[in-house]
Formats: sequence, structure tokens, C-alpha cells
Amino acid sequence: MKCCICNGEIEKKKDPTTGKVYWDGGENAQPVKDGRCCETCNWGVVIPARMANMQRSRETAQEEAERKCGGCGEMRISCTCDSLKWGGD
Ligand SMILES: [Zn+2]
Ligand SMILES: [Zn+2]
Repeated sequence: MKCCICNGEIEKKKDPTTGKVYWDGGENAQPVKDGRCCETCNWGVVIPARMANMQRSRETAQEEAERKCGGCGEMRISCTCDSLKWGGD
């Protein structure tokens, strides 16, 4: 099985005691690619990309929370009025 990122062969994981291959399907390459990748790409490419994605969605949520509420004029994060008023800006 080939890594969908670097095209290298995905290393087979072997049980250290029996030497039997217990996993050769690599790692999930999402969100970088829709496929499987090797461990090197997983740690070097996929995990950093996931972190960046998480960071971005956190920032978006933060920005969203800091917008003013249309009902009471408070920041949404501290607004206590009906959140339905947030719609439609
Ligand atoms: Zn790879
Ligand atoms: Zn409000």
C-alpha cells in the first residue's frame, strides 16, 4: 500500500513479540488528502494540518462570539438575551 502524500510504501506494523503484521493500512490522511498515508507524513504533514485547522475553527468561533448581539448590544459571548436575535445581522 502506497502513501497518498509521498507515494512511499506504507510501513507495516508488526507485533514486536510475534513479528506478525497486525496493521498495514497506514494512517488517515484527512484533511490533507482523502486516503491513507505513512507514519512520516502523518506526523510531518497531516497532524500539523489538523492542528492548523483546529486553530482556525477556534479563531472563527472566537470572532463569532465577540460580535455584538443584535438584541442587547452586548458581545455575543456575554449576551443573556434570546440568542434567536443573533440571526440576520
Ligand atoms: Zn508518506
Ligand atoms: Zn443579547
